[in-house]
Amino acid sequence: MDKIKIVVAGPRGKMGKEAVQLVMNTENYELVAVLDRKYEGMKLSEIEGFGNADVPIYTSAETCFETEKPDVLIDLTTPEVGKLHTKTALSYGIRPVVGTTGFSKEEMNDLEGFCREKELGCIIAPNFAVGAILMMKFSQMAAKYFEDIEIIELHHNQKLDAPSGTAYKTAEMIAQVREQKKQGHPNEHETLTGARGADYEGMRIHSVRLPGLVAHQQVMLGSDGQSLTIRHDSYNRGSFMSGVKLAVDTVVKLDTFVYGLENIIE
Ligand code: NAP
Repeated sequence: MDKIKIVVAGPRGKMGKEAVQLVMNTENYELVAVLDRKYEGMKLSEIEGFGNADVPIYTSAETCFETEKPDVLIDLTTPEVGKLHTKTALSYGIRPVVGTTGFSKEEMNDLEGFCREKELGCIIAPNFAVGAILMMKFSQMAAKYFEDIEIIELHHNQKLDAPSGTAYKTAEMIAQVREQKKQGHPNEHETLTGARGADYEGMRIHSVRLPGLVAHQQVMLGSDGQSLTIRHDSYNRGSFMSGVKLAVDTVVKLDTFVYGLENIIE
């Protein structure tokens, strides 16, 4: 079987570093290049920490895809760049696996339309950790019985987007089974802006940012006299890599757009 040729975008980032190692250590994967925002023309092995990664660094997605002709792009960058990379990959017939978070609903719809047009698979996964997917599914299941819900997501303080893609996705999944409802007292008001968190169809989402954290989320569901808390913690970025592998193995056989790993795990 031919190896799956892969480009990783954002290789020096916290997630990107892990993804580079995953690709290099997986037998049927071949890391053909990386996409960075600097070091054009250098080899990744010249960057500290990547001694054994003898692949070229590109700063232009077009040049990279044209030259290296990968099968899959793994994007772990920033929302603006990630969106561009994803679209460019699709236009070159390359299937994207996107871990980058912070895409708007419109951007997601746009990418879905583009996938349909190109008849190419694309997986956008706000969370690659299998435990986090289960946390989202369990929360959706519980939301049938508890309509008052507060989502608290906690991340390291270098995260750019808020709320997290996982919190957003959790709220979307819950909204599929929960009647829209404004929570709290009808006359409640904030004496400090933001105190009640973000509002998603009446549910509240709170974003905590602290150094030392990785990626954590708890969903608190309450009703008269009882509450249920569902919590997931990622303690390191290795927790995401089995999901990245599952997404790569799936996307190469896929001709549609998939948003969320829960759609590809049983
Ligand atoms: P990070 O450490 O800040 O890494 C982002 C990397 O992207 C940096 O190395 C950055 O380079 C690079 N970059 C910026 N512009 C670029 C460009 N034009 N081309 C190529 N690379 C570029 O962030 P992270 O923690 O690894 O997270 C990356 C993304 O994954 C974020 O959107 C985050 O929310 C998401 N994430 C997803 C999951 C999941 O399970 N799906 C889990 C964790 C994180 P500079 O530092 O030089 O700017």
